[in-house]
Amino acid sequence: MSASPLLISPNSVLANALLRSIDMLRPRVHAMRPRRIEFVVGTQINGAPHLGTNLVQTTAFLLAKIARREFPVETSVRFGALDNAPYEVILDPETHHAYQATYFHALGKAGVDELIDTYYRAFFDSLSEATATDYALETYTDQQSSPAFRAEFLRTLERLDEIRWWLAPSHGVVHVRVPCPQCGWAEKRADRTKLVHLDEDGARFAAVCLDHGPYEIDVDPENRTYVDLATLYRNLVKERLLMRGNDTLYVMLKGGDWAFGCQLVDGALGALDAPGTRMPIRIFTPQVLAPTGAKLSKSLLRDRGKDALPTDVEPWMIDTTQWPRDTDHYVDALLWLVGELLTDPKHFFRSFTVKELGRIMTNRPADLAQRPRAHEMGIYKRYFDLIASGEKTTEIRVDDSSRKRLKEGDLLRFKCRDEEVLTRITRIARYADFDEMFEHEPVSSVNPTASREDQLRNIREIYPPEREALGVVAIGIELVGL
Ligand SMILES: [Zn+2]
Repeated sequence: MSASPLLISPNSVLANALLRSIDMLRPRVHAMRPRRIEFVVGTQINGAPHLGTNLVQTTAFLLAKIARREFPVETSVRFGALDNAPYEVILDPETHHAYQATYFHALGKAGVDELIDTYYRAFFDSLSEATATDYALETYTDQQSSPAFRAEFLRTLERLDEIRWWLAPSHGVVHVRVPCPQCGWAEKRADRTKLVHLDEDGARFAAVCLDHGPYEIDVDPENRTYVDLATLYRNLVKERLLMRGNDTLYVMLKGGDWAFGCQLVDGALGALDAPGTRMPIRIFTPQVLAPTGAKLSKSLLRDRGKDALPTDVEPWMIDTTQWPRDTDHYVDALLWLVGELLTDPKHFFRSFTVKELGRIMTNRPADLAQRPRAHEMGIYKRYFDLIASGEKTTEIRVDDSSRKRLKEGDLLRFKCRDEEVLTRITRIARYADFDEMFEHEPVSSVNPTASREDQLRNIREIYPPEREALGVVAIGIELVGL
């Protein structure tokens, strides 16, 4: 009798249309032929992350690794740290207008950097190493200061009447926050913030500070005033900007609860005549649900305190810094988890209760923690067997960005379906192309069973000319006994 499967998921409309989750990207990849794919994930940096946040981020790195092999193009991850999240909200004692200070305005750049270092830097570095994927990090404050973002924002202002009901369906008032230049506080709901002038050079807003009275803010592409956009508006501007890329395909990674809100962003994109080829590609990741079926949220902790959490919720799920072991151990467990979800679109495009995720995590392979960190490569069975028997001592790959990380002495794990073999890198040699490579590398060390001509033909069936043009890396390997 075979063991019962780890995961059981019903079919869904989306899962039924896909063989693999990564196929979500295929229509756009075919239409656009991008040179690279960037996976974009934004996170509010308000304190310690919970499991749902880390799940989105882990998925970004893992999909980057899968897409690099699948399409094949260079891939990376871009992390947006939303330092415009509200740090503090107060009410004007007389008018009762709400005012807020963002994390950036309350803590400054140094304080925000410290938050990122505390909660995310080691986590991302570990994910980056484990998936051989580079990442870049920018804050919302960086983003809004870039001339391209500001110009894109100003273009949307010209057509505010066409998008305002999409961005604010209940009242049609779009929240653009322009903090007071003296104290940094801004009207939360922009009640008294008005667009008073707009021309091709820029915009002027008038607003009222609770301490400093009326003020005006000029926004143009080059100046340094701060523009804080409400969530939907920020996404509209960001996605319009990213979709202008011709060489790079940007894929937005978002928690599943975003699927509902994106209808409104799409309405606004449509109102601005975004062509179909410029509509954003988004992947919604599994939602992590509290026992009530609501999204897991740190408000659980705030409302009930650490000792009163529902028994299903393990402490690390709500504050991932509580994970009992080190960062690599946590990341390896998360990568295994997301890898399992990605084995079938039915498992990936759905939600999970904390109890069910806890059950799955408990069932992770016992040797996961003992497995040394290693580079990983998938390989065909006939070559896998030659490596496992020790006959093949040189592995050949095109020299894409993930290979640049390989170093003499590193561990390299080859995987073929359910089998794997661990090796150590004994040397690295780089060549312009496969012909030059075979002038230096012994043919029999690459494959003892085939001639040089046969091997060249086989390799070039795997790697088309544009991949070979990246250069070739020969990796000397020896088996590692465990
Ligand atoms: Zn002020």
